Amino acid sequence: MALVHEEPSRGTFNGLRHDWTRGEVRALFALPLPDLMFRAAQVHRENFDPTEVQISTLLSIKTGGCPEDCAYCPQSAKFDTGVDAEKLMSVDAVLKEARAAKAGGASRFCMGAAWRSPKDRDLDNVCAMVEGVKSLGLETCVTLGMLEAHQAQRLKGAGLDYYNHNLDTSPEYYGAIITTRTYQDRLDTLEHVREAGINVCCGGIVGMGEGLDDRVGMIATLANLPVHPESVPINMLVQVEGTPLAGAARLDPLDFVRTIAVARITMPASVVRLSAGREDMSEETQALCFLAGANSIFYGPKLLTTPNPERDRDMRLLDKLGLRPME
Ligand code: SF4
Repeated sequence: MALVHEEPSRGTFNGLRHDWTRGEVRALFALPLPDLMFRAAQVHRENFDPTEVQISTLLSIKTGGCPEDCAYCPQSAKFDTGVDAEKLMSVDAVLKEARAAKAGGASRFCMGAAWRSPKDRDLDNVCAMVEGVKSLGLETCVTLGMLEAHQAQRLKGAGLDYYNHNLDTSPEYYGAIITTRTYQDRLDTLEHVREAGINVCCGGIVGMGEGLDDRVGMIATLANLPVHPESVPINMLVQVEGTPLAGAARLDPLDFVRTIAVARITMPASVVRLSAGREDMSEETQALCFLAGANSIFYGPKLLTTPNPERDRDMRLLDKLGLRPME
């Protein structure tokens, strides 16, 4: 009898742990790489077909001019990065991009808007986009900043499948990266999304000058959320000239691989996305990430405003590794 399914106590829920201590997570990071990779691969195989990779396409539906001060972001109006503020795209223009993404093999279409939080009138348009993209047979995801409970409900009503809202880093390092919203604000948005019945896409960024303890703290916080995010994007910072993090010390690619592996082990049933930063990664590093349990990528020439490997190059890499898009 699977007691863990019936008694969600002592930090387990649906058989998944939510009581990871920082010491346990730190111990995973400290494993010899072959042991860490083996454990991550085991967990991956127990929960997924390791040859399948979920493919998402990301479109910036409203670029630039954001009032927030996320130190990594070229879309903040506070930094001079050469990204101009644009208006929200029309529903028709978004649907045209979504059709192209579907033709290119994407199963999920993610739409990002550079807002602190959406105004209710903006949500009318976003809801129309969600309905239109869904009618094409694609899963939908949006990232619009902080949400109130009623806004999450409206998006759910439009049929939204996923809402992306990242924790970015550990609670301790967060203040060095963003000052215009708190960690608790982020947790509140995640709760509204979860309560509305929308799947949660939530991860973070590494290579922002944080220490190992911050990567430990970020993963422990994600893994100890009341329900694990269904999708966990792990991003390698893409340094953009003009942002405060341009020139930050680069993270060793193997530390990135370790972060993916620890995310896989602590959140076994979540899709772990090898997210931003692939443009600067060797094929070998990306391959190690897939071996460490990553099973999703963003696909397409741009990630919001930063470059991403060309689609053909991505497909050739998946082919070379014997991987295929998840249905
Ligand atoms: S990450 Fe999002 S909220 Fe932060 S500055 Fe960029 S667009 Fe704004």
